[in-house]
Amino acid sequence: MPILPVERPHLDPRFVCYQVEIRKSVIHRFGVYAKQRIPANRKVIEYTGERLNRRQAKARGDKHMTYLFSVDDYWTLDGAVGGSGAEIINHSCEPNLISRVMKGHILYMSLRPIKPGEELTVDYNFTKNGDRTPCSCGSKNCRGILEKNR
Ligand SMILES: [Zn+2]
Repeated sequence: MPILPVERPHLDPRFVCYQVEIRKSVIHRFGVYAKQRIPANRKVIEYTGERLNRRQAKARGDKHMTYLFSVDDYWTLDGAVGGSGAEIINHSCEPNLISRVMKGHILYMSLRPIKPGEELTVDYNFTKNGDRTPCSCGSKNCRGILEKNR
């Protein structure tokens, strides 16, 4: 079994475009923090992981759920296996990153300029029915609940 990144988080420099680091997060366990200023609308990190088809993604256990990211209707990436570190980035209801799918790759782009020391966050956009967990992003417009996709 692969070691899940929550237990041994690391960044893969091949997929990281700015200086960032993993630190303990105030939101949840570990987080990814900017070490330099990042301008708006830049590619910050690519979300990588094992590429799974629909059937394989369905068969993954609960432990992997948080790290599954759909590329399209058929393909899903499991960031728990071969993840770049982007899978450690926490959810916020008021994020500073946004995910964009480009030619089968998932890119996290900066929504606005990010200061050194800021935690990188993305809106997980969980929409379907599933586990509901309280959100602790701390933003003014926090929706209060995270619904995990199934
Ligand atoms: Zn929130």
